[in-house]
Amino acid sequence: MTAPVITCPWWCTDHRTGSTVEDQQHARPFPVPDGTWVALLRGCLPADRIELAYGGESFDRGTERARLFAAALQQAADLLDRLTAERDRAP
Ligand SMILES: [Zn+2]
Repeated sequence: MTAPVITCPWWCTDHRTGSTVEDQQHARPFPVPDGTWVALLRGCLPADRIELAYGGESFDRGTERARLFAAALQQAADLLDRLTAERDRAP
């Protein structure tokens, strides 16, 4: 049995492969400081919905890294809103 060919949506820039379709994930990581992550993720099954994943832990005296993290989160949220709107407009 061969795995079905998965077509990535345009926003997927870092596809996570796996041995089965359940293991695969479309992913769009955003540039963030070390120790944090911000990404849009969606599984490859038809029922899977796109999700905004983010996290991290930082103890920092400066604010630059916090601002970078906040900016990435803002970008990811904007893109998720856009993708959700596109999805809602689709027939
Ligand atoms: Zn993909």
